[in-house]
Amino acid sequence: MKNKNKFCQHKDVFERMNYLYQASYLMATSNRVAASYFGNNMVACAKKAVLRMEPDLKRSICKWCQSPLIPGESARVRLLSNPLKGLRWTCLTCMNIRKFVMRKGYKLWLEQPESIIETLDFTAKSKIKTHRNVALQKYFPRRKNQMKLVLKILQIF
Ligand SMILES: [Zn+2]
Repeated sequence: MKNKNKFCQHKDVFERMNYLYQASYLMATSNRVAASYFGNNMVACAKKAVLRMEPDLKRSICKWCQSPLIPGESARVRLLSNPLKGLRWTCLTCMNIRKFVMRKGYKLWLEQPESIIETLDFTAKSKIKTHRNVALQKYFPRRKNQMKLVLKILQIF
């Protein structure tokens, strides 16, 4: 594995897109305009850095207004049987319709094993089990308990 420690290109853009996607989902029920704004920013980030979104992620936002599609809240989902079996997603913000045909045995290109050329591991260096990290965990086991405490305290408030 010569590419094990390869630098993750556009990591900052991916992090920003992740943040904007989460913000968009949070705002979906309370403020649709803000949700659409965050979704729009996320798509703009991807376009500027020429990055592609995963199809599952791409299908979970509206193609026209970029607001998140949550079934029952911001989108209406209906089954279609004629002429082809599929799903019809209606965005309740802009009322645009998107149809997805469901064929038996059909898989997206990314779901097929031939599409994977190489798998890169971008695990942070601190999380990789090195001799030093193992020793630190051995001699300072409290750190983990302290983190649990902090998390519990955060859950209370
Ligand atoms: Zn829409």
